[in-house]
Amino acid sequence: MNLQTGIRFLKGVGEKRAAVLQKLGIATIGDLITHTPRAYEDWQTIAPIAQAAAGVPVCVRATVDEPPKKHRIRSGLTLYKTQVSDDTGSLGITIFNNVYQAEKLRQGDALLFYGRIAENFFVREMSAPQFAPLSEARLHPIYPLTEGISSRALERLISIALEQVSAHIKEILPDDLLAEYDLMGRAEALRAIHQPRDMDEALRARRRLAFNELLTLQLGFALLRQGRADETAAALPAEAAEEFLSLLPFIPTAAQVRAVREAASEMASPQPMRRLLQGDVGSGKTAVAAALLMQAVRGGTQGAIMAPTELLARQHFETLHALFAPCKLPPDSLALLVGSTGAKEKKRIKEGLAAGTIPLVVGTHALLERDVAFAQLGLAVVDEQHRFGVEQRNALTSAQEKAALPHLLVMSATPIPRSLAMIIYGDLDISVLDELPPGRTPVETYCVPSALHTRAYGYVRKHLDAGRQGYIVCPRVEDDDAGELAAVTQLYDSLSSGVFAGYRLGLLHGKLGSRQKEAVMQGFAEGKIQLLISTTVVEVGVDVPNAVIMVIENAERFGLSQLHQLRGRVGRGKEKSTCILISDAENEDAQARFEIMKQTNDGFLIAKKDLELRGPGDFFGARQHGLPVLRLADIAADAELLAQSRAAASELLRRDPNLSDPAHYNIKKLCEKLFSG
Ligand code: ADP
Ligand code: MG
Repeated sequence: MNLQTGIRFLKGVGEKRAAVLQKLGIATIGDLITHTPRAYEDWQTIAPIAQAAAGVPVCVRATVDEPPKKHRIRSGLTLYKTQVSDDTGSLGITIFNNVYQAEKLRQGDALLFYGRIAENFFVREMSAPQFAPLSEARLHPIYPLTEGISSRALERLISIALEQVSAHIKEILPDDLLAEYDLMGRAEALRAIHQPRDMDEALRARRRLAFNELLTLQLGFALLRQGRADETAAALPAEAAEEFLSLLPFIPTAAQVRAVREAASEMASPQPMRRLLQGDVGSGKTAVAAALLMQAVRGGTQGAIMAPTELLARQHFETLHALFAPCKLPPDSLALLVGSTGAKEKKRIKEGLAAGTIPLVVGTHALLERDVAFAQLGLAVVDEQHRFGVEQRNALTSAQEKAALPHLLVMSATPIPRSLAMIIYGDLDISVLDELPPGRTPVETYCVPSALHTRAYGYVRKHLDAGRQGYIVCPRVEDDDAGELAAVTQLYDSLSSGVFAGYRLGLLHGKLGSRQKEAVMQGFAEGKIQLLISTTVVEVGVDVPNAVIMVIENAERFGLSQLHQLRGRVGRGKEKSTCILISDAENEDAQARFEIMKQTNDGFLIAKKDLELRGPGDFFGARQHGLPVLRLADIAADAELLAQSRAAASELLRRDPNLSDPAHYNIKKLCEKLFSG
């Protein structure tokens, strides 16, 4: 039996249990022992009954004083009550409806009891405690679970597995690095994370395993970059981008100039650029992309920009059309290729792209269709990266079967701290737009309970009466599209026949066809629609400067970054804008999010807070960033570990650039595995 052995061969795992484990992503013994706890229950620190705190989990060691007595109470509930005591005092124990458990409490037995003590008028009692023999006095791991298995059951299985395979767990780091960074051995860490002697050991084990995650991820990226060392791209003269900046209808911000220069000089070299452009909503990423697209065209190649929605693609198309106007390109140089593009037009565009007669194209996923070929794509721009996976990002650059690869610019409106960006986008270099164009006023943000709905709507009406426009955003209520649709339609119906009767309302949701959606957005952009009732589909891109007020219903259902993205739809003109968050949620997390929204409009700060509140996994959604999930490493909290793992990674690569030394075989294999899935 080794780490690759199927879980089915482990003692105690039958077909049914294997199916349950599969739901946790556990297929092999190796998967099982790397399924790490998220916390521990402390059955090791024994509290004397007299001193045990009330209201928090405690463990007491006590003797059962009397056999449990049965009490029937109303509604068919049966209670079993007994008393236990130690040298310092006694404690009431109540068990609910579980005769099997109650029978296990025999008079005179000494046991461990784990639970919360309640204090009522000097009577101390533990309701529904867990209890176990004295031999169980240790830290018990709490695992991420699924229905059909308990942490205790996992603990037992893992213990059996560890016994069988611990000899097969290989070290991946040289001894001197282990010593330098004060790291526990890998096999030892994998044991200790499940069976820690004490909390200190558990933390050291976690540290070692988190270090591994960060290290392999960074080495993996380094190897990816190396694998690309001999790739070539067209070298495109940088002057064209610089020139374009002077043709813009506004003065570019210093950040825009810097970003253009960073990218332009890289595109001037024959190494393919792979760059992330990060900038808050409204920071002006489109103009940067436009300058670089012009560099591609002037250099004799083609440029493509891909957006996640048709709406956004159309908007880019129009924006770019205007921005390129002073460049005096031949007519029809810029094409729009989206799903709803007519067959004939599609054919014309595809032929033009393949022949090189169309130098610029804006599109959606439609650009990734297999029959889209470019004569020579010089620059591929991917907008709103977090909507696309890594694969799609790469698909566009491989859309041409030419020796030269296109340069790649990925744009993201989710501003994330640099340290995190280096982990998530480790194969990309980074440019940041950390400055908004001048003259923007921060969106004033309020949070009100739903009892004040009428007043909030009244406030919206006042703006509409003054000729302004607004949004009412409605979250998905249930976890499916149908629920979302029902909620937003219902809201639309009640508002259009109620508070907003007589106003011109529009309804926007994901179930509309792209034509319908387009018509609604067009109507809103032209001012025909005054108030847009919408789901989160307005989140990306939409740019209507006359919209100055936004109401977000059930605001607690949105994450912080999402709230910020939504709010970015207003505050785009000179007028002061307002955002009203409606929520009755009282929990601390929601309150913390609202507080941050009220305090700041700074996307980077908000992203940082979001990360602290949620952790990187939730922040991106494991599937969305297309990277292996960091299970233990917490990028927000483990900044020091991140720095250490980075130093260790570069040290390893300095000694052995390709990790080809047999001593590095194991770590190389781990790195490759990271990116193979
Ligand atoms: P985002 O980074 O969110 O994609 P956009 O590129 O859509 O931002 O730009 C937002 C708005 O700001 C657009 O209307 C654009 O014309 C305008 N803009 C961009 N750069 C500047 C600038 N330097 N000065 C003034 N307005 C600008
Ligand atoms: Mg944009």
